[in-house]
Amino acid sequence: MTVTATTTAGPASPTGARAAGLLDRVRTFVHDELLPSSEHFDSLPAVPTAASVRLAEAGLANWWIPAEYGGHGVPLCDSVDIVSELAYGDGGFAFGSFLSVLGTTMLQLSGADALARPHLERLARDGGVLGILASEEEAGSELARITTTYRRDGDRVVVGGDKYFSTNTDAADLLLVVARDATDDAEFRVVLVPRHTEGVELVKRWNMVGMRGSATYQVALRDCAVPAAHCLPGNGLRLLEIGLNASRVLIAATAIGMARRVRDLAMEYASSKRVHGAALVRNAVFAGKLGQIEMLIEVMRSQCRAAAAEFDSHLAGDAPAAALYRVGTLRSALAAKMYCGQAGWQVATLGSEMFGGLGYTHDHPIGKLVRDLRYVGLVEGGDDVIRELLFTRYVVPTGKRR
Ligand SMILES: Cc1cc2nc3c(=O)[nH]c(=O)nc-3n(C[C@H](O)[C@H](O)[C@H](O)COP(=O)(O)OP(=O)(O)OC[C@H]3O[C@@H](n4cnc5c(N)ncnc54)[C@H](O)[C@@H]3O)c2cc1C
Repeated sequence: MTVTATTTAGPASPTGARAAGLLDRVRTFVHDELLPSSEHFDSLPAVPTAASVRLAEAGLANWWIPAEYGGHGVPLCDSVDIVSELAYGDGGFAFGSFLSVLGTTMLQLSGADALARPHLERLARDGGVLGILASEEEAGSELARITTTYRRDGDRVVVGGDKYFSTNTDAADLLLVVARDATDDAEFRVVLVPRHTEGVELVKRWNMVGMRGSATYQVALRDCAVPAAHCLPGNGLRLLEIGLNASRVLIAATAIGMARRVRDLAMEYASSKRVHGAALVRNAVFAGKLGQIEMLIEVMRSQCRAAAAEFDSHLAGDAPAAALYRVGTLRSALAAKMYCGQAGWQVATLGSEMFGGLGYTHDHPIGKLVRDLRYVGLVEGGDDVIRELLFTRYVVPTGKRR
């Protein structure tokens, strides 16, 4: 199996050169560690997987953490290609490997350097993951309705509630819990809760349809007491929204990698499958489908890189936290996630059809890719939620936006 990168422009800066070197190492990692064991990742493997441990040993974990914390400092724009490569190997592995970007972005922009720095330095040095606990069963995507609370108790805060979905929680050292002030309904904070705090209970690991190489849990927080200083400053929902820009772009980027894999598997299959006395690969209908897939891959990548470049430009500004607090959710990031969810699903449908009946079995990797690709349009906001965000933030007259 050849691992093919989509077209990548040559490095234009020292950061670009570093990112290009890292991308080559990731490509080798995918070839050696992920592609040979794709069935293993579909079996809900114990986490951290041996491959995550090797990613950290190779110094590739959490590659986006800025150099000031000891990380590689790869911009989000270049992370799009790194995530595409990882997802080419396994979507779930990729998701578990980059999702901490949501938490590291919140830590980095929170304005609480003394609290955040040791965690960012540890994640850069040793690898490891963060758990982000926002979603709840009843509130759904209306996060302003969450019922998990924090209450002040002397020099501590006590966090309690039930979180429906949280990826990486068991393997994480630190959980970032989005909670409401028990005494003020309108006040939200992100509270840092060490994973092994008394009262953190994993209710179950979800038996997901796809992305089974990652691990997502239902979690109960039973009066978890942490120092009051563990509350990140600033509105917790706004901080979450800022971090979601980065993770939504990278979720979108997983669709690029998985679509490239579908394309390559189709080419492999079509070189030996014969139709009307000739190899399928020479058939004009087949060529049309592959042309369509290539167009979708190219547009997905362009949109992801455009959204990532916009996010990077905010981070590179004089006051990134203030700028991002003002802007909140980026239109380009919403568009990237929604477009890649839809385009990825088109590729999945075209792809599974191409293998005939084999495309509907567990005996060929295409079945797993179809299941994995579905998550792009669901996680961190389904299409209805993204459409509503685009409408309320970017379509209605400026004075009335919320
Ligand atoms: C693999 C996986 C990993 C995850 N990891 C995490 C994690 O680490 N941390 C975390 O906090 N969460 C996580 N989640 C949760 C995930 O982000 C949510 O499931 C997702 O955003 C959808 O929200 P929901 O489940 O609350 O459903 P909802 O968004 O509430 O949707 C339920 C239904 O209501 C409809 N609906 C909702 N809002 C609207 C609207 N405005 N207009 C019209 N219809 C609407 C939807 O279309 C859908 O039909 C994960 C989920 C999965 C599947």
